[in-house]
Amino acid sequence: MIGIWENMLTEFEKSNKIVRIQAFWKYRPARDQLFSKKNLDNLLELIQEEEKNRAKHGPTKFFGRKILPASFIMELEELEKGDFDDADDQVTRLAGLVLAESAKLMAPHEDIKFFDFAINLENYHFREEQLETMKQLNFEIKSNIQHCKVMIHETLTMNFLNKLKKTLPENHQGVIFSFKKPSDEVLQNLENDKSIQLINEDGIKLWVSISDTIPARVNSLTKVQFDPINNLRGKIARVDSINYESGMASVTILPDFTETNIYIRSLQEIQLKTSVEKYLLYAKNYFSFLELLTNITQKENFLKGIFDMNIIDYKRKTGNKWNFTTKNNKTSINLYGETKKDIFSCDCFNWQENSSELCIHLISCLDLIVREGDFLNETWGYNEINWAIQKMLTQTIMENYEVISLDLPKDKHHIILKYLSYKQKLQELSN
Ligand SMILES: [Zn+2]
Repeated sequence: MIGIWENMLTEFEKSNKIVRIQAFWKYRPARDQLFSKKNLDNLLELIQEEEKNRAKHGPTKFFGRKILPASFIMELEELEKGDFDDADDQVTRLAGLVLAESAKLMAPHEDIKFFDFAINLENYHFREEQLETMKQLNFEIKSNIQHCKVMIHETLTMNFLNKLKKTLPENHQGVIFSFKKPSDEVLQNLENDKSIQLINEDGIKLWVSISDTIPARVNSLTKVQFDPINNLRGKIARVDSINYESGMASVTILPDFTETNIYIRSLQEIQLKTSVEKYLLYAKNYFSFLELLTNITQKENFLKGIFDMNIIDYKRKTGNKWNFTTKNNKTSINLYGETKKDIFSCDCFNWQENSSELCIHLISCLDLIVREGDFLNETWGYNEINWAIQKMLTQTIMENYEVISLDLPKDKHHIILKYLSYKQKLQELSN
């Protein structure tokens, strides 16, 4: 099947109708990104304009995920080695760390199979402290193209070093990431010509300490910080896949649930409290939570509640009861409540007037306890948060039933009532 496509695409490419940005060699051609010539030209023009505009306000800002050097190392040790796809693994993390400082977060195509990824340092503006760090690490840059090899838990041997050197194109350099100390012979050899250089654990720590931000992970929920292409700034984007060779991520936008492409470097990860091991589960469940939340909120309040509220103080009383203080309001959540007014309460005008949708304070508070607590673990789908939202929905439907029923034929009324009482019974059983 891929063969037929491949032939068709190659024909289109030849006739200049489409442009293909190749994926890492292992994932070709299935994960290549395709653009029509016209679209890509437009896109590049927009990107250039954006770069110019941003340059006026100082160096390009990179968003993503803030991380401490010790956590970076700890997580690196827990991850699989992996390769230059978009799964969260050692190669992706290190590529992200190195690419984080490049303007476009973009890597050239790596075709040498001994290496994991390559970076192009052309247009890469090193900051003063980075130059200082490189001096400390005795790291010399003699080539714009750096081929990178990740072997965290393996020891670099003379034999393997020679193999790498043989495959390295003339005037290119190589970088090896490894925590294991090689023999003196290997160290001496590395020192002699600097065509391949080694970065160890301390080196990585030092680099993280001056960069402190790595790209958002696949499956993470992020805040779009800028987007000159589709103007989605301020919305939530779920990262579906990342292509470092184009610098773009494919995302699902919330609360609209549309799909599009966006700069990786504009996506700021929303923090979830969990381990590396459980991150995928938590991120998937957090997406499901946000999806549920859109059912009980107004579209314009959804993003305001998630991003704009400032919770000054909050206390967990007993078990699943919380009190919150925001700038002008007092809000509380009691997941043991029977009715939605028992569960959710806020002294703001909006909630008093209309309890069919959560006010921005309640959205913000509910989001906080979901992200900070352990509701996103294996119990997701049938825990207290799910039931609270379900109760709120069912009750709101009941309240509106009279209005809805005017539009329904008489003989259909009993079906809806049956359904609702069934739902309520389910809830009672769960309590
Ligand atoms: Zn409120």
